Amino acid sequence: MNKNELEKIKKEALDEHIPIIMDDTLHAINNLLKDKKISKILEIGTAVGYSAICFTKFLNDDGKIDTIEREEDRYKKALENIKRAKVEDKVNVFLGDAVEILPTFNNKYDVIFIDAAKGKYPFFLSHALRLLNKNGIILADNVLYKGYVMSDYNKHKQRTAVRNLREYLKEVMENPELETQILEVGDGLAVSKIKNYL
Ligand code: SAH
Ligand code: MG
Repeated sequence: MNKNELEKIKKEALDEHIPIIMDDTLHAINNLLKDKKISKILEIGTAVGYSAICFTKFLNDDGKIDTIEREEDRYKKALENIKRAKVEDKVNVFLGDAVEILPTFNNKYDVIFIDAAKGKYPFFLSHALRLLNKNGIILADNVLYKGYVMSDYNKHKQRTAVRNLREYLKEVMENPELETQILEVGDGLAVSKIKNYL
């Protein structure tokens, strides 16, 4: 991976107000994944490829990342950035709505990173559980959504998103197969490990 290019890609994304992963969230994920041997990562929500490029460092030699983006201009920018960072042999970007694409996927993943439409998190979870390896981990970004999720404030215009994020958290907390922690980094990161996670 080309680190100089990565810094430029990050700065350009921030200048364009693309909601890329926050530094402390990335740091927390780094602590979780740095000593693992990861072959397959699934990301839902590529944006311009920043997080996917960052995640390539967790992969073993023949590891791969599949990532899904529905906005064509972001998809194109992601392809360009992934080339610039010299990780095009490690990242496959899928153009389309994850709601349509996920049901067509059948391969298993070690890590699944959910970072797309908040109103769809419970749907993404159902597929993440289906596609997760037996010692896998599901990471969901933005689950605290600026504090709305944990407050009793219910009249916000984003209430469908808030309701679905609460539903997501309830499902991962209550699922007996998972051990979930909610980290107060960035906009909130839910970390759900399968119980026999190594
Ligand atoms: N993971 C990126 C940021 C993703 S921002 C990073 O940290 O660098 C969320 C992205 O998800 C947006 O680009 C948005 O267009 C995309 N998205 C939202 N809902 C989606 C869906 N249903 N299917 C595919 N992409 C979606
Ligand atoms: Mg995010």
